[in-house]
Amino acid sequence: MEQKRYAVAVDGPSGAGKSTLARAVARELDITYVDTGAIYRVIALAALRRGVGPEDGPAVAALLPELSVALRHGDDGEQRMYLNGEDVSADIRLPEVSMYASAVSALPAVRAYLLEMQRRFARERSVIMDGRDIGTVVLPDAAVKIFLTADAEVRARRRGLELEQRGTPKPYAEVLAELRQRDWNDSHRAIAPLKQAADAVLLDTSALDFEQSKALMLKTIRERAGL
Ligand code: C5P
Repeated sequence: MEQKRYAVAVDGPSGAGKSTLARAVARELDITYVDTGAIYRVIALAALRRGVGPEDGPAVAALLPELSVALRHGDDGEQRMYLNGEDVSADIRLPEVSMYASAVSALPAVRAYLLEMQRRFARERSVIMDGRDIGTVVLPDAAVKIFLTADAEVRARRRGLELEQRGTPKPYAEVLAELRQRDWNDSHRAIAPLKQAADAVLLDTSALDFEQSKALMLKTIRERAGL
């Protein structure tokens, strides 16, 4: 019997643990995890490489028709991103791409360009999709909407640890300042700002560890999706 198809939207600020948790939950539920931030990062990387300023709306918009952005999942279930056929999955994680992504994602042309790609993906299979506007704009009819957050200090500590493990450590104060700047950018832009959908469940993981957060997320999804 074919299983019923459903979508889970996970939104929230940077460093709330969206991607780590959503990836683990996807594995447990045997559905596809889609990291939409990665798609914005590809556009950011393309702009960065071409020397186009991320706030220069017309220049970034002019770049879009020349880009081919693809999202594919490998046999291991991991999402990989391609820019004009090149696997850029590692390059889009460079720290300079983060700020660029936050800026290009405020441009209406960029959001419009990526909207259908995200929706199409969710139409074809069950997904857990994370981002900033999944529950509010991309998948307003998602069966489950989760707004995942944690205190800025907690998120900065987690991000600091992650950078250290990657071999690119950064002082805590700097990580916190950048995170606050991105929070501000993401929630104050005119188009598709980061905000909790009216029908989203708020999950605050400030005082929870990974396993506790994952259990809470799974419980919420199973209840809401009627699994
Ligand atoms: O989630 P991640 O940090 O990789 O996202 C990079 C940037 O892309 C974010 O700062 C945010 O501005 C933007 N973004 C967005 N909408 C999404 C996902 C990400 O605007 N759905």
